[in-house]
Amino acid sequence: MRRSVGILGSTGSIGVNALEVLRHHRDRFSIKYLSAKSNSERLINQAIDIKPEVVAIIDARAAESVRDALKDHSVEVLAGRDGLLELASRNDVDICLNALVGSAGMEPTVRAMEAGVDVALSNKESLVMAGGIITEIIERKGVKLIPVDSEHSAIFQCLTGEENASVKRLILTGSGGPFRDRSIDLFSTVTVDEALAHPNWEMGRKITIDSATMMNKGLEVIEAYWLFKLSVDKIDIVIHPQSIIHSMVEFIDGSVKAQLGYPDMKIPIQYALTYPERLESDWEQFVPAELSDITFEEPDLEKFPSIRLAYETLARGGTAPAALNVANDHTVELFLSGTIAFPQILEINEAAVTSHNWVENPDISDILELERWGRSFVESNIEETVIA
Ligand code: NDP
Repeated sequence: MRRSVGILGSTGSIGVNALEVLRHHRDRFSIKYLSAKSNSERLINQAIDIKPEVVAIIDARAAESVRDALKDHSVEVLAGRDGLLELASRNDVDICLNALVGSAGMEPTVRAMEAGVDVALSNKESLVMAGGIITEIIERKGVKLIPVDSEHSAIFQCLTGEENASVKRLILTGSGGPFRDRSIDLFSTVTVDEALAHPNWEMGRKITIDSATMMNKGLEVIEAYWLFKLSVDKIDIVIHPQSIIHSMVEFIDGSVKAQLGYPDMKIPIQYALTYPERLESDWEQFVPAELSDITFEEPDLEKFPSIRLAYETLARGGTAPAALNVANDHTVELFLSGTIAFPQILEINEAAVTSHNWVENPDISDILELERWGRSFVESNIEETVIA
């Protein structure tokens, strides 16, 4: 029987890769819905090609052009945030791939799981914002959350058939980003183009900046904490510039399992959508003999304090990781628009964590309130910086 899939964020980097996977296995899947924020042209082309039942687009004007273009194609068009949440709440799909970016992806994850639908999660921010809430839903509804992030997919695969009690530590690998070899003294001169030039992966703009600050690795530590239920002192990071080993698990007997592969997000996307089955693929193959080097180094926490900050928020718990996440969404946007300098991303993120109204056991309304607070906090902080 064909598995029915919904894709939130189909016009982004993960969404486009996911559609390539699904086209490759057309006989195995049916695609029920797609969504975008404002890229109407790409959404229209995807909808005409794939013929989903329904699409949603946030931007109201873009929604008009999507409606117009799809009027003869029997595709329902929903608009705005309500339209996106309506899609996410549908219970007639087997799996929802959440490929949205940023805090905006959290509530759709919660809606899909509350509807009893398994989620293939690329939107790591969902777990950073609401890990406790999502864990409670998983237990109550009996739904699955399958990681798409390559590091977490690697760990998920290494842990298959293992007991948590046998795990000594998880080792998340990271490429080190574009500034691994740049002196910290030059960080204030970093340009947007330089920060967007990731050495190994082609990704959306937000995660590419997160990789340059290494906040991405920090968010991944928090994501791993909620996915794998291990204490924070058992989650380590190692820099591995070749991005071939996607992560490792060290066991108490000294054995280490690693998952390797060509750096291509189609592989973990496909695994998440077909789990527990594996299907063949014809993506670029991993050829060990072509590798001249596999190297590792410790992450430089002085140069990349975002990692330290993420560990600190996790240790503090409650809303601290969510405050970091919402601030980071906006500081990255402001860096990309040329409003703030690269080092200010961290400075403002740190101030947000310290200043927010900490709640120990937040519910969804606390998190949504924090999301609103985050934008205004970041904006007022910039004004203060400019006035000073
Ligand atoms: P992109 O920016 O490329 O795509 C994001 C998608 O979400 C687009 O479809 C976009 O629509 C839509 N979107 C953006 N903002 C909103 C919003 N406020 N409300 C509703 N929809 C929105 O992101 P990526 O694909 O790179 O990343 C997606 C997630 O996957 C992130 O959490 C990232 O950390 C994670 N990830 C990504 C990897 C990668 O290789 N790209 C690797 C590992 C994890 P539109 O196109 O119209 O703007």
